[in-house]
Amino acid sequence: MKSARSLLEVGFLGLACAIGAAGQGSPPPTEPRTDASDVRFVSSFVAAGEPVPGDCREEAHTFALTLVRYARPQSWHWVLVCDEAGWRRFLRLTGREEGAAIYASTDLAGRTTYIRGAKLLNPYDLAADPDAILAHELAHIRLHTESEARAAELARLWQERAKEGMR
Ligand SMILES: [Zn+2]
Repeated sequence: MKSARSLLEVGFLGLACAIGAAGQGSPPPTEPRTDASDVRFVSSFVAAGEPVPGDCREEAHTFALTLVRYARPQSWHWVLVCDEAGWRRFLRLTGREEGAAIYASTDLAGRTTYIRGAKLLNPYDLAADPDAILAHELAHIRLHTESEARAAELARLWQERAKEGMR
């Protein structure tokens, strides 16, 4: 699991600043403004140094808009796997079935979350609400647990709160 990030070719996505800036209000003066998190992307269709593909950009946009609705870790690696071929490769590298219905995966020890980008593309797959996907992974991170039941419970609570906040 830890080696997946180095095995997948990753490019840097200049989203870290956007995510840091879109936070809930100004931080207190004692707190450093910097968010040490980074967002990278994996695309099967682009070589290093080439522009980020359109699908990848759209996925990154949805990712950023969704992430800011939840409390997130200060220092985390996010890897957006932009296309399905890349996601199948990720599943293979991490010892999972290629056809598994997995939309994201968090490596707690490696402080890295992998997102199946295609599930963030509009129109959304009804089985894969971007909010549900991210809230679930953030719950794993917050609780530092691999328990699906505990993560699902906290994610549900956060999603209810987020919905109330939008009213
Ligand atoms: Zn989970």
